[in-house]
Amino acid sequence: MTFADHNRGQAPIEQLLRQGAQALAEAGVENPRREARLLLQHALGLTAEQMLALSPRSEVDQACYLDWVARRTQHEPFAYITGQKGFWTLDLAVSSASLVPRGDTETLVSCVLDHFPDRDAPLSVLDLGTGTGCILLAVLSEYKQAWGMGVDISPQAAVLAAGNAARCGLGGRAAFIAGSWTDALAPEARFDLVLSNPPYIPTRDLAELMPEVRNHEPVRALDGGRDGLDAYRLLCTDLPARLTPDGLGVFEIGIGQEADLRALAAENHLDVAEVRPDFEGISRAVVMRHQPI
Ligand code: GLN
Repeated sequence: MTFADHNRGQAPIEQLLRQGAQALAEAGVENPRREARLLLQHALGLTAEQMLALSPRSEVDQACYLDWVARRTQHEPFAYITGQKGFWTLDLAVSSASLVPRGDTETLVSCVLDHFPDRDAPLSVLDLGTGTGCILLAVLSEYKQAWGMGVDISPQAAVLAAGNAARCGLGGRAAFIAGSWTDALAPEARFDLVLSNPPYIPTRDLAELMPEVRNHEPVRALDGGRDGLDAYRLLCTDLPARLTPDGLGVFEIGIGQEADLRALAAENHLDVAEVRPDFEGISRAVVMRHQPI
């Protein structure tokens, strides 16, 4: 008998929530009651309103929920379990092929909106290390005439991102390829926007990340090499040849990396147009452009 067979059947909501919250608390998951409620809601395929309308004594299917609780006690990220995550205004599919989109990363989208106020501009957009496609798709959703390309070293991530483009109704304006940074592009390809949330955690810090990140998210999307800056060295070296004359590079950075990024920009004859903090006040998005001639 498999685990799922064993747990087939129905049980009252209040019992399932108690049982789930206890298992999650014992595993050290934060907000165990809230997580149990959200896992049950998603496992039953209900909205928050539909869930609230049910009596705590209602009997509901338990197999999927108990399986999901067991996964969450292993600190698998909530979004991998439910298979979806909201980013900007979009509902995206997620998988372990890519990082779970983070709220901090929306800082890049708000930067783009301020630097390119004309929402009808036919922007060409390149997103390096696109993952779920979240940054590129959020930008395309705001600029109805824009077209973009997402690149990821992981073919599974490129497939995931392409599926997300279709899911968001943006499939006609986005293309995805599996490749290493800009290697797959024609040497003369230029873009109005080059976006990236590259791996930027120094290798020795990886062991200290939350278990959700450390044990479940792809290390290739996190590990920025010895000093965390390997990807930025490539991005900044490449950027001058990739940007149109008025183009912008918009990169996510980690805590304490602003000075290093400013130095890399200067070395590559780029200006830093802005460094924008996230909602916690941490410098999160760096905007670069060509130096005026
Ligand atoms: N912000 C992510 C984290 O700390 C790291 C993302 C990245 O390396 N690009 O979990």
